[in-house]
Amino acid sequence: MKYVLVTGGVVSGLGKGVTASSIGVVLKACGLRITSIKIDPYLNMDAGTMSPFEHGEVFVLDDGGEVDLDLGNYERFVDVTLTRDNNITTGKIYQSVLEKERRGDYLGKTVQVVPHITDAIKNWIESVSAIPVDGKEGPPDACVIELGGTVGDIESMPFIEALRQLSFSVGPDNFCLIHVSLIPVLGVVGEQKTKPTQHSVRELRALGLTPHLLACRSAQPLLDSTKEKLSQFCHVPAGNILNIHDVPNIWHVPQLLQSQNAHNAILKQLNCLRIATPPHLQEWMKRAETYDNLTNSVSIINMSCSSCKHFLLGNDTGNDASFVQVRIAMVGKYIGLTDSYLSVVKALLHACISCSLKPSVDWIAASDLEDESAKLTPEAHAAAWETLKNAACVLVPGGFGDRGVQGMILAAKYARKNHIPYLGICLGMQISVIEFARSVLGLSKANSTEFDDSTPDPVVIFMPEGSRTHMGNTMRLGSRRTFFQTPDCVSSQLYHNSEYVDERHRHRYEVNPDVVDKLEGAGLKFVGKDESGKRMEILELSSHPFYVGAQFHPEFKSRPGRPSALFLGLVLAATGQLEAYINNHQNGS
Ligand code: GLN
Repeated sequence: MKYVLVTGGVVSGLGKGVTASSIGVVLKACGLRITSIKIDPYLNMDAGTMSPFEHGEVFVLDDGGEVDLDLGNYERFVDVTLTRDNNITTGKIYQSVLEKERRGDYLGKTVQVVPHITDAIKNWIESVSAIPVDGKEGPPDACVIELGGTVGDIESMPFIEALRQLSFSVGPDNFCLIHVSLIPVLGVVGEQKTKPTQHSVRELRALGLTPHLLACRSAQPLLDSTKEKLSQFCHVPAGNILNIHDVPNIWHVPQLLQSQNAHNAILKQLNCLRIATPPHLQEWMKRAETYDNLTNSVSIINMSCSSCKHFLLGNDTGNDASFVQVRIAMVGKYIGLTDSYLSVVKALLHACISCSLKPSVDWIAASDLEDESAKLTPEAHAAAWETLKNAACVLVPGGFGDRGVQGMILAAKYARKNHIPYLGICLGMQISVIEFARSVLGLSKANSTEFDDSTPDPVVIFMPEGSRTHMGNTMRLGSRRTFFQTPDCVSSQLYHNSEYVDERHRHRYEVNPDVVDKLEGAGLKFVGKDESGKRMEILELSSHPFYVGAQFHPEFKSRPGRPSALFLGLVLAATGQLEAYINNHQNGS
């Protein structure tokens, strides 16, 4: 096993995750089978209990692991399927050591950070890196490990020490360290400053690890003189100093690395130049260029109300008439925090790029749509409704808690009554059921028991999969199979007429099976169910251009070049192309 460790220095938020994922892409293009591990040195066992305000969205894996969103980047970039163990946290390591201590496995010894915690980290890395994640048999060739945080953080010390020991035990031919750092520019002359990087490399070396490559983040390309200085003071050959300057979109990064021969430097360090083939990244380049052409630039425009953000994936000049723009109203609880719905935004992007549409995501704070806000914040209320009415389609993503639920119900009603394409994901699907039960079935108090325990018409209820006595771990998490009930439905056609589909779940509540007959009788069809037929997984509304709800989160499996079926359906419906797409597909073209 070859290990490529990616550490970070100077500041957080440098794009270490994107750099590490792009390294994975380039090495994969050289013919290596890649896996990856993300180390988060916090004490939480996993990201599942954290609010999106902390580290952005909670990414969900096939095995139900609730992990850092960087694992989403790895899956999307390298096209692998990771496991919960590919995300190591301090909490997981301490729990495994303490469990062993309680079992008496340490045979009376004093249990310490060194060697017990560090050993546990090493063992974890060695065993997880051997798990195949690309659908093939046998262990991968190389494991890209990203260490979260910045070098010098107290909480990452045991990890650094474990990685130092690992580098020593696997030997120099099997270990390559890439340090991602920042080169700020100061003064009127715009001098590229190397001192912060020098200090962070010194810190790393004091801990016993010397970088083989430096990946320098900067606004502009690095000058040769800056590289020479870095080389001299950081003990890294000038040819191994990579420059990750700002690019219009992150899909350029693999090619940026390749153009600087990063793959050769890494493969040489890992002594596997001879087994590698020259990387071909045409597909990535083409995709990155299409993205550039579609968007020109990425900007965020604040609308009149502060809570109503128009996040435009591109400029709004309308000059590039060759691309049709699709305005997507995202009605959620957290807006302005695009990381909270990162995979949803990526899935929209994948879908739009695949059919040359220019995505424009209009964020709407669900609570601004509510009647109450008309009294309290009339401007925000009016702006939110105007944004909703200007959109070509509506998306209500997943969520927890009752804030904004009434606003989401109004958005679902608006989309249903006005024949505006609607996609409801998880909570968004439950919202459309509540709305339909209230407006069409006349059950004015219909609700989910998540929001109202004593509702006379519980149309969405708690349906634990496991224990009824234990509250912990009662979420329905990870990949579950959905069987299509009829081949005629839009969703089945979008999923290429498959009999079933495996998608990732993360929820506690579900449509009450007792009300399904009534809902279906009035036109809300449950076209996808689990194997028992009791869990409603996909709904569709008859006589509507596209009104779909999914109990699962299709965004987690969307990939560049392989967009998620339901997202594709939404943007195609929004631009009037859905029927033609389905007909073409049925005809095999
Ligand atoms: N809060 C809802 C539930 O637990 C929806 C969850 C979600 O959207 N991820 O079922």
